[in-house]
Amino acid sequence: MDQPNPSLSRGERVVLPSRQRQQRLQVEGLWQRFGGNGAPWILQGIDLQLQERELVGLLGPSGCGKTSLLRLIVGFDRPCRGRVLLDGQEVSSPTWLRPPERRNIGMVFQDDALFPHLSVWDNACFGLGLGQDRSRAGWLLELVGLAGLAERYPHELSGGQRQRLALARALAPAPSLVLLDEPFSNLDVEVRLRLRSELPGVLACCGATGLMVTHDPEEALAICDRVAVLNGGHLEQCAQPRQLVEAPTTGFVASFVLQANLLPARRVDEQTVNTPLGLLRCLSNAAAVAPHEPLQVLLRPEQLQLKADSQGPGNVDCREFLGQVWLYRIRMGKLTLKLRQPLSNTLALHQRCVVSIDPVAELLLYPQRIPLIPV
Ligand code: ATP
Repeated sequence: MDQPNPSLSRGERVVLPSRQRQQRLQVEGLWQRFGGNGAPWILQGIDLQLQERELVGLLGPSGCGKTSLLRLIVGFDRPCRGRVLLDGQEVSSPTWLRPPERRNIGMVFQDDALFPHLSVWDNACFGLGLGQDRSRAGWLLELVGLAGLAERYPHELSGGQRQRLALARALAPAPSLVLLDEPFSNLDVEVRLRLRSELPGVLACCGATGLMVTHDPEEALAICDRVAVLNGGHLEQCAQPRQLVEAPTTGFVASFVLQANLLPARRVDEQTVNTPLGLLRCLSNAAAVAPHEPLQVLLRPEQLQLKADSQGPGNVDCREFLGQVWLYRIRMGKLTLKLRQPLSNTLALHQRCVVSIDPVAELLLYPQRIPLIPV
């Protein structure tokens, strides 16, 4: 990783043309399971590349394999199949494991994991070898806003300050790669939002490459250059945030990242499908799905309309105030739908209602996912 460039202020990203950038991390066809043959696969053929100076989010629900993937990258576990390369060199395969302490990887955990008996300064310098320049630790403490607190101990810092120190400590030895495991999840909302908006700038100032685990789509979309969406050990899509939102390639990405509804559907003709909400006319990608294949139709929460109706089939199960809009959860028989509505459309809890679809909504179709089995 580059030496810090103090002439760069926070928030500046140095974006090199991709042909000039080096691959920092290459994850190639990783399969992992615990407990030998017959045990379920935890990771299923993961491919992922990070170029230098990129911040990539690893996003997915609980249990999808995020931590298992991080452990393989750090070198705590050995993969069943596939390999990991750092700076072009193989560091993990089923037969070879470079130990974690020789991988030059920095780590930031949920719970800061600082040494309570060491001062802020000593914590920041912890990863530096005897001969290494300590001025970098001073520069990093300044960069993360802790310059005046070097003499304090971790218990004398706020939660946000401790996480800043954990980041400075991880960056001090100039690692090839920084892994951030839900770094903001233990912080209160205000501190979380401030720290997450500062993170890309701090990494950019150091020329650092980061992989950040999160289960919060908003967080990943807000600050990452690209986001890799993991589901059941399978990498569903890795793309820039806007691409994920505008063109999710699978139903899971659409439902998890956009918090959208997925309805089971059967094709009636080229552009019409039958769903629990009746016949719907779908968009262009309908043709890409083979005839008779079980389908899912994507309904974004803002594509649905809601009206109070005492005879209606729906029931308002839950209503959340999101500041600018309501988020409703409507139950219709076995179906539960999420709807975003303007504040002017206020329905009470347990009110009966009808749901309709915006007539100009562009509805996307997806095949139902077929599990991937290794050969
Ligand atoms: P979370 O967001 O809740 O931390 P995660 O996405 O990080 O979840 P993992 O911790 O990687 O998920 O776990 C993925 C799956 O692997 C889970 O079903 C988990 O129970 C299983 N698993 C993880 N480690 C082991 C292990 N050492 N032995 C057996 N199963 C394991």
